[in-house]
Amino acid sequence: MNGIKLLVVDDETDFAAFVAEVAEEMNFEVLSTDNPAEFSTLYSADINIIVLDLFMPATDGIELLRFLYKNKSKASIVFMSGKDKSVLRSAKKLAQEQKMTVLGILQKPFRAEELEKLLLSYVQHSHIQNYDMNEFPSLEELRQALENKDMFLVYQPQINLVSRKVIGVEALIRWKHPVGGEVPASYFIPFAEENDLINDITSFTTKTAIRQMCIWDNNGFDLQMSINFSPKVLDNLDLPEKLAAYVIEMGADISKITIEVTETALMSDVTRYMDILARLRMKGFHLAVDDFGTGHSSLQQLVRAPFSELKIDQMFVRNMDRDQECRTIVEISILLAHKLGMHVVAEGIENENIWNILRDLGCDEGQGYWMSKPMTATGIDRWMTKWSSQQARFQ
Ligand code: C2E
Ligand code: MG
Ligand code: MG
Repeated sequence: MNGIKLLVVDDETDFAAFVAEVAEEMNFEVLSTDNPAEFSTLYSADINIIVLDLFMPATDGIELLRFLYKNKSKASIVFMSGKDKSVLRSAKKLAQEQKMTVLGILQKPFRAEELEKLLLSYVQHSHIQNYDMNEFPSLEELRQALENKDMFLVYQPQINLVSRKVIGVEALIRWKHPVGGEVPASYFIPFAEENDLINDITSFTTKTAIRQMCIWDNNGFDLQMSINFSPKVLDNLDLPEKLAAYVIEMGADISKITIEVTETALMSDVTRYMDILARLRMKGFHLAVDDFGTGHSSLQQLVRAPFSELKIDQMFVRNMDRDQECRTIVEISILLAHKLGMHVVAEGIENENIWNILRDLGCDEGQGYWMSKPMTATGIDRWMTKWSSQQARFQ
């Protein structure tokens, strides 16, 4: 046994058995039922993964989801359905809005390898999920981490898809947790936003990233720097002045800095947000609308604020070589951005095929695991050398 507990619920007995068999092969401890009424009896807080059929007689997957939410379940969920993929996507979104972890969606019939891949991704990340996410992180722990320099930045290259030139990097924060290992931003940024720690985190990120940009500049690497700003920090009217003053003091070039933002429903004052964005742009910063295509960024914001860059969410890019709907969304996003005079960056390029499709669609730049995962500054130095020597063969 690998210590991971999986529960599968599907009224189709054969399917429940199929999932159970695949998971057992992978040494999971499996509970399986074809009777949704048994769900609450079989459920326990220590279950790691729940594989759920969305459509079942008498009850449906969404009702079971409500049960999990009420019970503060920390299990990762896999949705299955024989119906349209859009239904699966809605279910996924609903679960994520309730802060539940969705491991993936599977459209029936699916192959054993597709399920295996999802389960494997859980196994690979399970060291992060071993601690109690309800109690973690505490505000104090987060504050301490920042003070103790347990937070650090990694950088992911942004590359021109035609010339293959590295244009810049995006700075992404990480937390070196004594128990949890390297904790990704999505685990603690929302928490920091709720607890007024986001200003301190942003200040750390911004200063570190700009300093690093200057170091690269001194070493002869001309790289632009993209920094993520939570909408929560775009609330201080004097931010544009302060930020510009800092960049000038550091001797850096404002026009090489891009501020990436998303829009959220939590935004308290839209007018003030737009005011700040407009003044940042007037000072010479570039503005990117991040995660375009998700609930976080709307068309309305796109025309209201002076964005110079549109970033297509990785969710669409990652799947665009297999999924026609994703590809359509990417295509439309590129057209839209160019019509609005913006340039486009695609996130989530996971293979060469996606790179080629994006390039042919006219996408300007890309980021993704296929070229490089986010790395420390030293890692980037090494990667840059390797990348430029490899590119020689394309010239
Ligand atoms: P984002 O700004 O959209 O960043 C891109 C995310 O996509 C990063 O996740 C990156 O590691 C991931 N990614 C890049 N290429 C690929 C790929 O090919 N495949 C896949 N599967 N993923 C890819 P990360 O670093 O976990 O960051 C998650 C989010 O956390 C970021 O999304 C950003 O919104 C937020 N974040 C990260 N650092 C900061 C920060 O310093 N401040 C603020 N406010 N937010 C941050
Ligand atoms: Mg970003
Ligand atoms: Mg993004």
